[in-house]
Amino acid sequence: MALRGFQVTPPDDVEDTLRPRSKEKAGDRVALPMARDQADTTLYPKPPEGGGVRGGHLRILLYLFLAVFALVMLPLVRRHTDDGLLQQIGKNCALVAFSILTLQVALAARIKWIERPFGLDMTFRFHKAAALLALGLLLLHVTLVSWGSGHWYLLTSLHVRWAVWLGRLALLALATTVVISFWRRKLDIEFESWRYLHNILAVAVLSFGFVHSFVLGGDLNSPAMRIYWAAVLFSTALIYLFHKAVRPTRLRRHAYTVTDIRQEAPGIWTIHLTPPAGQDVYAYSPGQFHYVTFRRSKELPVEEHPWSISSTPTRPGLASTIKEMGDFTSTIGKTKVGDKADIDGPYGRFSYLFYPEEDVLVFICGGIGITPFLAMLRHMHDTGARKKVLLLWSNRKEQDILAREEIRQIVQSGRPQLKVVLFLTKPSEGWQGERGRISKEAIAKYLELPIRRTVGAYVCCSPPMARDVIGALRDLGVPAERIHDEGFSL
Ligand SMILES: Cc1cc2nc3c(=O)[nH]c(=O)nc-3n(C[C@H](O)[C@H](O)[C@H](O)COP(=O)(O)OP(=O)(O)OC[C@H]3O[C@@H](n4cnc5c(N)ncnc54)[C@H](O)[C@@H]3O)c2cc1C
Repeated sequence: MALRGFQVTPPDDVEDTLRPRSKEKAGDRVALPMARDQADTTLYPKPPEGGGVRGGHLRILLYLFLAVFALVMLPLVRRHTDDGLLQQIGKNCALVAFSILTLQVALAARIKWIERPFGLDMTFRFHKAAALLALGLLLLHVTLVSWGSGHWYLLTSLHVRWAVWLGRLALLALATTVVISFWRRKLDIEFESWRYLHNILAVAVLSFGFVHSFVLGGDLNSPAMRIYWAAVLFSTALIYLFHKAVRPTRLRRHAYTVTDIRQEAPGIWTIHLTPPAGQDVYAYSPGQFHYVTFRRSKELPVEEHPWSISSTPTRPGLASTIKEMGDFTSTIGKTKVGDKADIDGPYGRFSYLFYPEEDVLVFICGGIGITPFLAMLRHMHDTGARKKVLLLWSNRKEQDILAREEIRQIVQSGRPQLKVVLFLTKPSEGWQGERGRISKEAIAKYLELPIRRTVGAYVCCSPPMARDVIGALRDLGVPAERIHDEGFSL
């Protein structure tokens, strides 16, 4: 099949690799039970509202404003101060650091209005960097205040006021949070334990920090500042309550039901979910992800995990395709029809609908990283999207390739114009497709060079592979803003 935007030099029989080699019949591996002619293409006719660049700028300005508002307010409400310059700067550092720490709660609370223009992964990356900034500011705070006042015992003595101790504990809790978050894997801390610890430490940082500043902070003496400071903490507590209690309760009340579960490949399951009677599936874009908390039989764990949505909004119901990878996912095959699932979504910007200007799409994925692409291909197929798509997909073995027959049918339909190249890192002798990893040379072999301005590259694979692939795409001339990455880790 000749596609403008892709080279046609590779053998056309590469797509033959999509033909199942085993005794499977055509249709056996079609993951969604619904045929295209049943699809409702009016369900999602327009690109989603993404907030856009302007929306992003507005949110950044609001963030900066809230982070420094206490500093702006201070000279307006304070009569005079005996503090020297160093002390004053030190105290200002603490005011900004505490404001940043309260904003951390809003960033982590998965508020859709905040994440929409950026995506949740970028929001969480920013959250992580902001924690480091707050820690730096607080270290400056203790150093400058001790230096400016000449009271070094504030740093070194055990015999200080309890409120100083609270400040020390807040700093220690923050430093611990930063260490366990930046080096969680190296420290071999399981995700769930990390999350639990992080929540406790975050509450400790904010409550200890608040009391410390309220009791000792000379800057907070004026009634206006005290009211403002209390209001900041109160709003933060409300956001935390919403995230941890109100939303989960609401989701549980409107829980979806598992209506089908099928094995796609060894250790890979697709779970279909249906909303409660009278309720529609929430609006999402193909490629986005959601958080799911399955409620199954008593002996199975109840945990919230993020999964891409592998279904398309053009068809009824909702589905995720899940690989057994660890403690929780190893139980996924035990999920039963009739089990309940609390679903929070959609999140992320990993969808071609967010970037309508791109007309030549390069999808690169490893293993289970195919799931957001399945959703996008199904959506393009149902809506007859006039896009050219090159899918480079790496798996270990042939039996790991899922939805093979369905992808083959999409290729044959010509909607979209899809070229698929399969790579195996552990191929059998008779394997006809590509062997080894998706290297820069492999990408260059299939992608027409020089790169067209309207190319969009989408990458979903393990972090080391993503680093290599993104580096290769950059080397080949794909602009950074045209490379969209879904890391499968937040
Ligand atoms: C945006 C996104 C989309 C994803 N889409 C899919 C998909 O479509 N199909 C699929 O099979 N997998 C997907 N994953 C990966 C999936 O979330 C993890 O494999 C799963 O959570 C592992 O849980 P576990 O307890 O079995 O494994 P563990 O061994 O406990 O965890 C393995 C790793 O998964 C991550 N992880 C574990 N629990 C959580 C959690 N509650 N929240 C966030 N990260 C966690 C951590 O980085 C952890 O180190 C996606 C991940 C993300 C972030």
